[in-house]
Amino acid sequence: MHRLIIGGRRQPATSGECFEVLAPEDERLLARVARGGATDVELAVGAARSGFEQWSALAPAEREAVLLRAADIVAGQGEQRLLETLIDESGSAVTKARFEIRYTVDLLRTAAGEARRLYGDTFPNDRPDRLSMVFREPLGVVAVISPYNAPLSLLAKMSAFPLAAGNSLIIKPSEETPLTALGFADILLDAGLPPAAVSVVTGFGAQCGSALVAHAGVDCVALTGSTATGVAVGTESMRHMRRCQLELGGKSALLVLRDADPLAAAAIAAQGIFTHAGQICMANSRIIVEQPVYDDFIAALKAQAEAIHLGELRDERTQYGPLINRAAVTRVLGHIDAAVAAGATLLTGGALLRGLTIRPTVLLNPDRASAVWREESFGPVTSVVAVDNLEEAITVANDSQYGLSAAVLTHNIQWGLRAARGIRSGSVHIGMHAFQSNALAPIGGFGMSGIGRSGGKYSTEEFTELKWVSVSLEESGP
Ligand code: NAD
Repeated sequence: MHRLIIGGRRQPATSGECFEVLAPEDERLLARVARGGATDVELAVGAARSGFEQWSALAPAEREAVLLRAADIVAGQGEQRLLETLIDESGSAVTKARFEIRYTVDLLRTAAGEARRLYGDTFPNDRPDRLSMVFREPLGVVAVISPYNAPLSLLAKMSAFPLAAGNSLIIKPSEETPLTALGFADILLDAGLPPAAVSVVTGFGAQCGSALVAHAGVDCVALTGSTATGVAVGTESMRHMRRCQLELGGKSALLVLRDADPLAAAAIAAQGIFTHAGQICMANSRIIVEQPVYDDFIAALKAQAEAIHLGELRDERTQYGPLINRAAVTRVLGHIDAAVAAGATLLTGGALLRGLTIRPTVLLNPDRASAVWREESFGPVTSVVAVDNLEEAITVANDSQYGLSAAVLTHNIQWGLRAARGIRSGSVHIGMHAFQSNALAPIGGFGMSGIGRSGGKYSTEEFTELKWVSVSLEESGP
């Protein structure tokens, strides 16, 4: 059984309970993992409070060195182990698993540099005998609650930047992917992080995650997950008047404008939706195409979808594998079936290939009230609608509760920038699909896609607090 990590020490859950982790590829039992609960959270908070004192007292160069060593371990001796765990536990194709590892190295190195950049400030005072300074200080104990879809790189992003700023961590990974998180915490410890500065409490959201969020000893919650979870975590966090950074769901629009090459646009669109079976928050699950290129675009997208290689996960040619579990398959097929029943045309796909793997699916013109158009399907399914002009495309893109990412395919920079200015989302990419990552970029969303931004200096701002310190230069000053 895989045990919890409490302040660097491995121990079973105090209840003695555990849960099973299955491999999505064939639903075989991969491992039994300790099922943490409120008592374990209590222990982790105790450790993290003292971990915070130790870790925040270190010099920036020492924190930088730990994160750089962690990056080296991920890129070196840790790589193969992490790769195997990602494939087995999250059903990642080997190419997606490699991408996560490269991005994790990038994130750790970028965060390491942030340890030296906790810039403060000064500002003028109308009284000449007064000085005003602004210090940037870590928040304290950060609870990191992570999802299953990119269980390594998202956890690395949510952990590395708070650590760089001097915070300690309690990690609550997705119940689907605890092994990746335990492996990542081992690497942080091997890299020299003080043991008390990191705990991993494996368990379920409803017991373990909610106990963590409800604990008064937690100073900040960073969640990447669904919007429903974000609302619960945000509401509870406000009761404690504590910072929370929420990266939630999306329904990203890809605009294909009249001057786009339909073949190239279809190749970009297919990559933007079918990577990791569409289990990507920024997947372009809504495609909005200007009428003049619509027919050629959908013919090319059908060909792209039907050419996708769905082989063994360790086969380099495989583009994606299974969904995470049976419930996800039921949800995605349910969205497709309901859309077709409400009048959408099924261009291709729409059924299981084998096990938990769904064929690449494209729907045309679904009812705009249907779940497949409005809600996250989080599977390999996208919908295409035709519009008459750019303004209409922007209006349709904005008709969503989400606003995480968007993309526009055009060679006309004015049209591209008009779309970028007009679409309400955390990022807009011109000439590429909506799923883009960069360790320095401010990732986050408008509307129900979340609160706050992560990446580079933006994470540093999220995971630090400002303090105004002023000095009187006169002993007698009031
Ligand atoms: P989820 O919301 O089901 O779970 C996320 C994490 O929250 C898990 O660790 C879970 O155990 C925990 N959790 C669940 N209920 C909780 C509660 N009441 N209190 C505390 N913790 C709780 O999400 P998921 O299914 O693991 O991941 C997929 C979702 O994540 C999708 O909606 C996707 O869009 C989103 N996501 C967003 C981004 C982004 O950058 N915005 C990135 C990746 C994934």
